[in-house]
Amino acid sequence: MIRVSNIKLPLDHNEQALTDAILTTLGITAEQLTAVEIRRRGYDARKKNTIFLIYTLDVDTTDNDALLEKHAGNQSIRPTPDMAYKFVAQAPADLQERPLVIGFGPCGILAGLVLAQMGYKPLIIERGKEVRQRTKDTFGFWRQKKLNTESNVQFGEGGAGTFSDGKLSTQIKDPNHYGRKVLTEFVEAGAPEEIMYVSKPHIGTFRLVSMVEKMRAKIIELGGEIRFSARVDDLLIEAGQVTGITLASGETIRSKHIALAIGHSARDTFQMLYDKGVYMEAKPFSVGFRIEHEQSLIDNARFGKNAGHPILGAADYKLVHHCKSGRSVYSFCMCPGGTVVAASSEEGRVVTNGMSQYSRQERNANSAIVVGIDPSDYPGHPLAGVDFQRQLESNAYLMGGENYDAPAQKVGDFLKGSASEELGSVHPSFKPGIKLTDLSKALPDFCIEAIREAIPEFNKKIKGFAKDDALLTGVETRTSSPVSIKRGYDMQSINTRGLYPAGEGAGYAGGIMSAAIDGIKIAEAIAMSINEQHS
Ligand code: FAD
Repeated sequence: MIRVSNIKLPLDHNEQALTDAILTTLGITAEQLTAVEIRRRGYDARKKNTIFLIYTLDVDTTDNDALLEKHAGNQSIRPTPDMAYKFVAQAPADLQERPLVIGFGPCGILAGLVLAQMGYKPLIIERGKEVRQRTKDTFGFWRQKKLNTESNVQFGEGGAGTFSDGKLSTQIKDPNHYGRKVLTEFVEAGAPEEIMYVSKPHIGTFRLVSMVEKMRAKIIELGGEIRFSARVDDLLIEAGQVTGITLASGETIRSKHIALAIGHSARDTFQMLYDKGVYMEAKPFSVGFRIEHEQSLIDNARFGKNAGHPILGAADYKLVHHCKSGRSVYSFCMCPGGTVVAASSEEGRVVTNGMSQYSRQERNANSAIVVGIDPSDYPGHPLAGVDFQRQLESNAYLMGGENYDAPAQKVGDFLKGSASEELGSVHPSFKPGIKLTDLSKALPDFCIEAIREAIPEFNKKIKGFAKDDALLTGVETRTSSPVSIKRGYDMQSINTRGLYPAGEGAGYAGGIMSAAIDGIKIAEAIAMSINEQHS
């Protein structure tokens, strides 16, 4: 096929306009055009009242070779690259060792799935419950303030991104098109087909839940196995080589190939790994608050008279401000038409995050407004970032009234430095509930100063962003992992052979897509190592 990119058409164009644009660009007649597939559809909303759609298309014509020759040198008309995923190995017929995958989030799911597809029959160990039961526990916490520390927003089948907006964008380089393999698997599991081509794909919580179940079924069908409510509490290491795991139940399972896809919130497991001598370092992450506005304010600021257009959907934003102090403040995990959620996984600690449904039709837009911090802010120990997070989360619990309500403040009051006493036009979506207070005590002074400097700057880009009634809820601490579990070129821990640190928890991903892609890479590395040792 021929890949034609940069076709730009007005937002409200009809189907024929797209065909006409292809014909003009390629200089062919309608009879010569035999097939068209949309590969990507983005939009250019720099002028909000004149929004354009930008297409990348794969087309077939009666003579592709001649056309490619005619347009040689035109970067927008090239042969379609081969993006099909190719397995790097096949399990030996007499496979003697099953690889283990710890964690069944996006990274563990894709690692497990690809290993299963190559015939390695992985055994996957997940501390939390299967997704339907986990959904009950999580919603139970939001409604009744009863936290299950092993089954919540962070832990359980599907991992941290299950109750989320399901945004699938990533900024990582992906020359091998692993992302396409991930999207293909997601669509086969029930994700909307448009995720294959829209520039900002998202899935939403309800669909994620059933997708996770389907992917689990596929792994099992291929010979894999998944154990839920099975927490790995110990790692068996002999002479620098991992040889197995011990579960909380006391059961020992042997394997010399273990993918460690535990996410960023498994603090007890980080501690266990540190105690066992697995090499890790403290790494930078970010802390801040969730901010909520009416979604209509964001739609109008971003799309003007085009607000509400079905192709555009609820508007998002991405903001960054470099402060005078040298700190950066940025918006993170923006959830259009969504809700702020309680993302605690430890007793007596409050953490915020955001989610939405596919329709993104809730009243408010929310995003985290966070300040970048690094190990010089929590010096001394590889796990000092965890202590830093815990302090902020415990403090937020106290400020919220010690019942899992989150401390909150109106933006106007936050900027002025006075505690909020009553809500304005923006109603909090956070469940269980919020307590109005003075958030300046919720984060270190340098963070508060940075956020106070950034919000008025963001208001220059999105009119109304700094409006008095916008609401801040805190604290947002789980933006990424506070540690990096280092691995070498062979994807194994630099001092523990056979252990493959992966995904967000190990510091190799930040989001659903990048974690899933990392899972594929780990599966490939494990498969090749097993085959090498087998031969
Ligand atoms: P996780 O998804 O964290 O999975 C790790 C798994 O390991 C968990 O299921 C955990 O229970 C298990 N585990 C941990 N320790 C053990 C142990 N000792 N034994 C056994 N099992 C263990 N990202 C996006 O790209 N888009 C979004 O819209 C988005 N929204 C989010 C909304 C929320 C509310 C949250 C919390 C996160 C969101 N994220 C989003 C981030 C995204 O979820 C993570 O980047 C991603 O899930 C990381 O994948 P992972 O597989 O590396 O780790």
